[in-house]
Amino acid sequence: FMGHRYESSAAASDSASQSPPPPAEKFEYQAEVSRLMDLIVNSLYSNKEVFLRELISNASDALDKLRYLSVTNPELSKDAADLDIRIYADKENGVITLTDSGIGMTRQELVDCLGTIAQSGTAKFLKALKDNKDAGGDNNLIGQFGVGFYSAFLVADRVTVSTKSPKSDKQYVWEGEADSSSYTIKEETDPQLIIPRGTRITLHLKRDDKGFADPERIQKLVKNYSQFVSFPIYTWQEKG
Ligand code: ADP
Ligand code: MG
Repeated sequence: FMGHRYESSAAASDSASQSPPPPAEKFEYQAEVSRLMDLIVNSLYSNKEVFLRELISNASDALDKLRYLSVTNPELSKDAADLDIRIYADKENGVITLTDSGIGMTRQELVDCLGTIAQSGTAKFLKALKDNKDAGGDNNLIGQFGVGFYSAFLVADRVTVSTKSPKSDKQYVWEGEADSSSYTIKEETDPQLIIPRGTRITLHLKRDDKGFADPERIQKLVKNYSQFVSFPIYTWQEKG
């Protein structure tokens, strides 16, 4: 499945660079994803902190894949030997950044993974939802099945995923907003944000959820989940 590409939006091109990067491209979510996003964004689900469990579990999966593939192809991990997860909480701006040095995603993988329902758990969620139309059961279902990556939109109104796969020589940025049926992908051009490999997810928290950008709160949550993760998880903050 190729995401439906219907428009190119002009990106600001930096006059200083000789060949400006291609503009950001806009893609429509698969209909099921739009439905899921609507549900997540509008649900009264109160156990919002599950977003962190989902993102840590994805980071851990990505690190597992990298480690596994490195056994037969040591080249893969040469650019960044450390396999870890770093969570940065910017309290002042209400932003959480979660970085892993895992397998990353190519541009096509971004489209396939973060624009469609690839995940069986999420497909089951949608099926259960269909079968349980009564009593606004979605609140329980979100917790029961987990909604994977899209759970980021429980707490964030804007999410960016900057990612570099060893299969690609370029790093790409996926960006989605809570109330939109489309997302964009562009090349990462900010030299400060270039990573050797892996994925950096930035959550711009909703007004009412900015409290999650608290290192102590994050540390507490991480403690609960980290027992299932075999990679170090570091949380840090700017010195106040
Ligand atoms: P699941 O983890 O069950 O597959 P998710 O919605 O959580 O479903 O994630 C969808 C897909 O997006 C993953 O299968 C993976 O391919 C990709 N993905 C998500 N986060 C990352 C990450 N940090 N690094 C690499 N790939 C990722
Ligand atoms: Mg997942």
